[in-house]
Order: sequence, then C-alpha cells, then structure tokens
Amino acid sequence: MLKLTTWGTRGSLPTTSTRCVRYGGATTCLEIELFDTDSNTPNRIIIDAGTGLAELGRRKFSEIDGALFLQTHLHWDHIQGFPFFGPLFKAGAEFRFLGAPRDSTGLEATLREQMRAPNFPVSLDILPSKLVFDDIERQGSMLLGELRLSWDEMHHPSDGCTAWALEYRGFKVVFSGDAELNLGGAKALEALAQNADILVADAQYLEHEYPARVGWGHSTPSQVVEVAKRASVQRLLLTHHDPSHDDDTLDQKAEGARLLAGHMPVSNAHDGMSICLGAPLALAS
Ligand SMILES: [Zn+2]
Ligand SMILES: [Zn+2]
Repeated sequence: MLKLTTWGTRGSLPTTSTRCVRYGGATTCLEIELFDTDSNTPNRIIIDAGTGLAELGRRKFSEIDGALFLQTHLHWDHIQGFPFFGPLFKAGAEFRFLGAPRDSTGLEATLREQMRAPNFPVSLDILPSKLVFDDIERQGSMLLGELRLSWDEMHHPSDGCTAWALEYRGFKVVFSGDAELNLGGAKALEALAQNADILVADAQYLEHEYPARVGWGHSTPSQVVEVAKRASVQRLLLTHHDPSHDDDTLDQKAEGARLLAGHMPVSNAHDGMSICLGAPLALAS
C-alpha cells in the first residue's frame, strides 16, 4: 500500500486568510508513505520542505525517526519549512536528502545558509539528528529496495526544477515540481508520468492570467491536463496554488480543468489531503 498526503499546496508564498481556509496556505510539501517495506526500502518519502513540512513534523513527531527527502529545487517556498521540522531535533533520527544542485554549492549549502545567523537561531551543525546529502544529476533513476525513483528536468527560472516519479509494487505517483510546460519539459513530464496512478502538478495560473505571466515558471490547468491525458494518467491533482487565489477562485480553477479532462478525474490538492493506493477501499479526504 502507498499513501500520499499533501501537507502544503500553496505556491510562492505562505497564505493566511479567512478566504483560503478550505485549501490551506502552506507551501509545497508532499509525503508518500510506503507500507510493508523491507529493510532496503524507505518507508517515508518527503518531497520538498515548504512550510507544510512544519505541520507534518508536528502531527507525526513521535513516529518519525527518519525519511528520504527529495528536493525539486531550492526556492524559498520549497525549503522554508525545513528549520521548523521538529523531527530534525530528535537524537538518533536519520534523514537522507537527494537533490540536483541549483548553483555551485548545492542542496546542503543552501539549507545550511538558511539556518545560519542572522537568518535563524539554530545552526544546522548542532542538530542532533543525522543528515546525509546526496547531489544527483538532473535526469536519472535509481532503485532503493523496492522503490524505483525516476526524475527529469523541468523548465523553471532561473535554473530548473526536478520532476519526480515514485514506483512501488505496481503503484506510481508523480510530482512535477514547479514547471512552465508551455516553455519546455512537457515531453519529459509526459514520459515520466506515463500510466501514473496520480500526477500532482503545478497549475498555478488561471488561463486568462497566463499571457501576463509567461516566463514566470508555472503552468495553467489546460497545459497540465493536456500532458496528463497524453500520459494516460489515472488521476490529476492541481497544486502550487497562487497566493492571490481564494477558495472560490480555486473551485473555479478545478471546474475549468474538469471540463477539459474528459473521463480523467481532476481536483485541487489541498493541505492535509490524503489518498491511499492499494488499500481495500481508496480513501480520500
Ligand atoms: Zn514554488
Ligand atoms: Zn520555484
């Protein structure tokens, strides 16, 4: 069994407003739990460390003693929850990070800098948990026990973004990260997401907003739906919601996507949403 939880679904900037309570305002963080794993297979994968990571750490503090972190890129909305992830402060916990360097220094240096004074009062060097950082190429795949990881590069300013595919015992979940499919990467995402059970994809802008935002690094629902249909995706979740979009606007965004999607189920991801694959009954909340 595999369980996907979206802890942060807002893009660009955390959002707090009474008009955004249904979808939430935490920035990007996804958790994928794998069940019945052997000792070579990670049982908890966390994609991106946006502010949604803080709530994940709070809700599951007692049960988390390790995780595999997959990073899409290093923009603030994808790392800002990292210093507030409580399990980092547990002695004996072990966390591994995989990410493509986005400058000459790489993932570890960026997270270290984020926690360096005067940015933050606790240095990464004094954390009691064990952190292992591995830089990866911008395209590739690897097998970790029964988990197959595949990834490819998306178009996103200024220096790209990783889309990740996770396959475990016949189930497949794909996350596109931040991606402007109109300017590149659509074919790569189509290949990565082929026959995926779930594609979670950046669809930040409404169709009428996009012409004024070309080059800003994000997609619209129609661009994402087109790729998902070509890839024969089973279910599409829209994410990286714009911080200016309230709940009603996001409802309209999803409704517009559904009109284009035909038989493929499409909905907005929201903070705290879980989907189980392989359970006796598929659960969604
Ligand atoms: Zn982002
Ligand atoms: Zn970004």
